[in-house]
Amino acid sequence: MKKFHVFTIFPQFFEGFINTGIVSRAVKNGIIQINTVNLRDYATDKHRTVDDVVYGGGPGMLLKPEPIFRAYEEILKNSKPYVLITEPWGRKFDQAFAQELSQKDEILIICGRYEGVDERVKSIVDEEVSIGDFVLSGGEPAALVIMDAVIRLIPGVVGDSDSLRADSFSDGLLGYPNYTRPPVFKGMEVPEILRSGNHKLIEIWRRWKQIENTLKKRPELLKQAKLSETDRKILQY
Ligand code: SAM
Repeated sequence: MKKFHVFTIFPQFFEGFINTGIVSRAVKNGIIQINTVNLRDYATDKHRTVDDVVYGGGPGMLLKPEPIFRAYEEILKNSKPYVLITEPWGRKFDQAFAQELSQKDEILIICGRYEGVDERVKSIVDEEVSIGDFVLSGGEPAALVIMDAVIRLIPGVVGDSDSLRADSFSDGLLGYPNYTRPPVFKGMEVPEILRSGNHKLIEIWRRWKQIENTLKKRPELLKQAKLSETDRKILQY
């Protein structure tokens, strides 16, 4: 069982995610658990205040440290999760990072809001994580992205683990194109090989397409990709 804790001031943000598709199935099958923690529950005043003005002046508010520390201390009574905080300047999230996180038993994601989070919160954080070079209004969409990418890598979550191996980035290359029925649609045909039933040929065609796709769209990935001798021959064409 893998466990995710998410500290947020908008727990409702995660409801659709938890109740949809493979994530909901993984929860029902007891493979994962997602504990959304409303930071307002850890505020002590009657208005359940979680934010305050920024020292030094300037616009906007900041998430206060006390509710976050209180919520964290509550979790520490039972376990010690790996702690992430969403930050636009954090380590860039990618498939390799998702793989690393899928090895952890318990992960806590702290979602910033407003101008961010009081810097002292970083004393409980293992890594700052960014989902790209742009600024979101809050860490919640980033937490969803991170959890989704990690959850599908946990054994038993995706029914057919072969589909994970064929996913983009799993071995450093982009994926290959796929088709479903009908065989001809608006004059566009499904490639003959894919209908041939010859699995060896299909495998070669798909690998070819992965390399072609990567070369056209993300050539820089080829430098790091795990390529076989045959892959290198295909590349020379
Ligand atoms: N003041 C911050 C700055 O100088 O970049 C921006 C704060 S942003 C409006 C509010 C929160 O959204 C951040 O604290 C962070 O938790 C989250 N966030 C924004 N962009 C993000 C990104 N690219 N990746 C991960 N989290 C992000």
